[in-house]
Parts: sequence; structure tokens; C-alpha cells
Amino acid sequence: MSLYWTHIAYIIAAGLFVFSLHWMNTPRTARKSVIAGSLAMTVGVFATWFSPYVERTFETTSYILIPILLAIGPGIWLAKVPITAVPQRTALSHAFGGLAAGLVGTAKFFYWYNADAAAVAEAAQVVVSEPPERSLTHFRVIAIVFEVILGFLTFTGSLIAAGKLQEVKWVPQRPWVYRGQNFVNAVAFAGCLVLATILVMNPHHAVAPWLFGGVILLSLNFGWMLVMPIGGADMPTVIAILNSYAGLAAVAMGFVLDNPLLVVAGALDGASGLILSIIMCKAMNRSFTNVLFGAFGQVKAKAGAQEQKSYRSATPEEAAGILEVAQRVVIVPGYGMAVSQAQHKVRELYDALTKRGIDVRFAIHPVAGRMPGHMNVLLAEADIPYDRLVEMEDINPEMPQVDVALVIGANDVTNPAARHDTSSPIYGMPIIDTDKAQSVMVIKRSMNPGFAGIDNELYYLDKTLMLFGDAKGFVGEIVKALAGNSGH
Ligand code: NDP
Repeated sequence: MSLYWTHIAYIIAAGLFVFSLHWMNTPRTARKSVIAGSLAMTVGVFATWFSPYVERTFETTSYILIPILLAIGPGIWLAKVPITAVPQRTALSHAFGGLAAGLVGTAKFFYWYNADAAAVAEAAQVVVSEPPERSLTHFRVIAIVFEVILGFLTFTGSLIAAGKLQEVKWVPQRPWVYRGQNFVNAVAFAGCLVLATILVMNPHHAVAPWLFGGVILLSLNFGWMLVMPIGGADMPTVIAILNSYAGLAAVAMGFVLDNPLLVVAGALDGASGLILSIIMCKAMNRSFTNVLFGAFGQVKAKAGAQEQKSYRSATPEEAAGILEVAQRVVIVPGYGMAVSQAQHKVRELYDALTKRGIDVRFAIHPVAGRMPGHMNVLLAEADIPYDRLVEMEDINPEMPQVDVALVIGANDVTNPAARHDTSSPIYGMPIIDTDKAQSVMVIKRSMNPGFAGIDNELYYLDKTLMLFGDAKGFVGEIVKALAGNSGH
């Protein structure tokens, strides 16, 4: 394929990427967005494969090896994880993206370094009037250094983030902190930048490969050091930031490989990751620096000192009786609904209540569950009408008029301590004001804490009833009880 057609294909792919992001704005067009994104990726991959960028340098074995690897389909295995594991899966994707960028940068550096050395050696043998043209220009070394630093730090940082979210044994989920940590991290990063700067200034020096190795090691080291002190409820924001780094690494890779589509796609990825992390920081009322250097969640162990507080519990039949006489019900779904896959039972409950003329809406917290949009995806899967889903800022002012707030497997996003307890690790995070409703019912299996590891004051209010059980089973029991009641 000629370069002309490659670039036409790239423009089409870039356009599709932009539309894909735009269509992600609402659940209504989300499906179209996924199709456009996949199509853009396919066009990009095939256009590159048959482009002059690759055709001349590709070995025949690669043409055989790549389809075999595609057929084994490592990506398909990644796509098969349960929806509750999508955040750690996303972190793994970023890790692989970062690793790929880092390895490409490394390969290119050594390829050009050796080519330049060979050209210089050859020129020394044949007397030539001008020195040979070097491939490893300053611009290319700068791009490679960016690519390698961002790629490798994204790799180890994302692996730690995935390990924390997957609750892998050897990765502490709590923040791993020690005195002077920010200083040590700053020194480690500065060391990496110093080596990189010396390398950029002397790319052909005999010690350049050693400097390059040093940059790689320090970047790998900095990545895990960056994420280890972050824990608790800040992990989603960290994943979005790492997404942004992986995108920026791809931009640098685009400059190294002289591939415009990589530059465009990487820039879109980098910018959208950054925007998402800003949105999430806002949702948690936290600043970037606080997320990255605040060691959030550190005080978890202290929280909820062992005083005995009392709470009230109820049966599915009692819960059904309370719901039946309500006029306005707000359901607050959270991570537990995802774990128990209760969304279809919740749909049945929604049907049973609306049939009785009760106004039922769903309050959506931006970080409920374990990934942005987690609740939207689950409720859409159960065909709950979009117009019944209300964002946190819109539902909160109406909470005092709500008869029953039914919390299903949500915890942190309903904890009133976030509003007033300055010592709480979630202080400042906006919550759904369930405690302001006339009455509250909470479905969960025990009094155990949620993701942030802290007790929830909501459970001890006089107006709150705890409904202990698996979300799917308990909601099913309520639906049964409602059906029984309507039969009488
Ligand atoms: P939480 O993690 O705070 O609470 C979930 C609750 O669900 C737990 O208290 C648990 O209690 C209950 N639960 C678990 N399994 C079941 C089950 N089978 N049936 C019934 N209940 C169950 O979830 P929230 O959604 O309230 O808050 C999300 C938290 O996760 C926030 O802290 C957020 O910052 C963080 N986070 C968010 C991400 C995102 O992008 N959305 C990504 C990563 C983290 P019990 O064990 O007693 O049943």
C-alpha cells in the first residue's frame, strides 16, 4: 500500500477515534462508540501492517507469527473477566501498553545507536569529506527518553494498581508509607531525569547504553514507588492517571516511529485519561497532588474504634411492607450489587413497585462500584430506563422528600462521615445524602466496611434498618413478599 493510502486510512481511523470518544458521552450512544473505536483500531492496525512503514522492514516470519498470536487471542482472555474485575483488567491493559512503548523505545535506541556506530566506523575507513548522517538525532533521543520513562513507569505502576485492586496477597492494599517517602520518591525521579538529560546530550557516547539502562531501571523503580503509597478509594483516579501516562508514552512512540496515527490516538488517550482523573478527583473532592502524595486511607486501621453501637435489622417481609406504603423510593446501588449480580432482581423490584404507582429512581454516585460508570452498565444490562437514573448532584436536594432510600450493596458512597468528620479518610468526598431521606434500608451481608475500610454512621441512625443477606437473594425475597402481599 502506498503512503498516500496509508495516510487516508489513518485520517479515517483518527476520525473514528474522535467520534468514539464523543459517543461515550451518553449511555444511549455508548454501543456505537465501542463499534467506532474497534473499527478505528482495526483500520489502524491493518493500514500500518500493509504500509511502507512496515512492509520494507518486516520479515516473512512476522507475517505468520502475528496472525497466530492474534488467533490465540490474549485480548479475548482479558475481555472475559467479570465486570467487577474490569478496573484491574484496565490497569493490566495500561501495564501492557506501557511495556510495549518502553520496549519499542529500547529497541529503537539500540538499533539507531549501533547503526550510527557502524556508519562512523565505515566512514573512518573510507576517507570522506563530511561526517556520516546520524540516525540518533537529539529530537529522537528526547522522544525515546519520554517514551521509555513513561512506558516503564506505567508498566510497574499499573501492575501494582492491578494487584491492589485484585487484592493480591503480596501487594498491600493499604497505603505503604514511611517517613520522608515523598522526598525519596522525588530524589528517585530526579535521578532518572538527570541520567536522561546526560543521555540526551551524549547519545553516541560509549557509556550511552549504560545511561539508557539506568533510565530504564529508575523508571521501572519509580512506577511502583509512585503507586505503593496510594490506597483505598483513590485507586480509580490513579488508574485514570496511568491511562493518561500510557497515552503520552504512545505519543512519544508515534514520534519515534514517525507514525502520525500513534501520535493522534496517544494524545486522545492521554487527554481523556487526564479529563477522567479530573472528573474523579472532583467526585471525591480531592486535588491531584493530594491523590498522588496524600497516602489516602492511611488512617483506616484507627477508624471505627471498637465502641459498641446498636443498629436495627429487618426481614424481607418487613422491608416489603415498608416499600409498599412509600410514594417515593430511591435505590442507591453500589459495589455489592455488582458482586452479587443483583441487577435483574433489582429490575423485578423496580417493576413490582412502579406497578403499584410508586415513584422509583436510582441515585448514581460517580465512583459507586469499582469503575466509572459501573452502575450505569449494570442497570442498563437489566433494561432499567435511563431516565430513572439520576446523578448525585440532582438527587441530593430531593432526598428529604424521599420516603425510602434503599441502599443495595453501597457503603462508602453513603457514609455521612464524609461530610463532617475531618479525621475520616473519605472526608470531603461528596456522597449520596441517603441519611436525609425519611427512612433508610441497607442491604448487605454484614456490618463489614466497604472499600475505604471504615465504619458507616448511616447504619446506626434511628431511621435505618439493616437488611442482612446477599443482595440478589434479599431483593428476590422482597419481590416474592410483594407478590404475596398483592395476592391477598
Ligand atoms: P463499597 O466498597 O464501599 O461497599 C460495598 C458494600 O457491598 C460492602 O460494604 C459489602 O458489605 C457489600 N457487599 C459485597 N458483596 C455483597 C453481596 N454479595 N451482597 C450484598 N452486599 C454485598 O462500595 P461503594 O459502591 O459504596 O463505593 C465504592 C468504593 O470503591 C468507593 O470507596 C470508591 O472510591 C472505590 N472505588 C471506586 C472505583 C470506581 O471507579 N467506581 C474504582 C475503585 C475503587 P458486606 O461485606 O457486609 O456484604
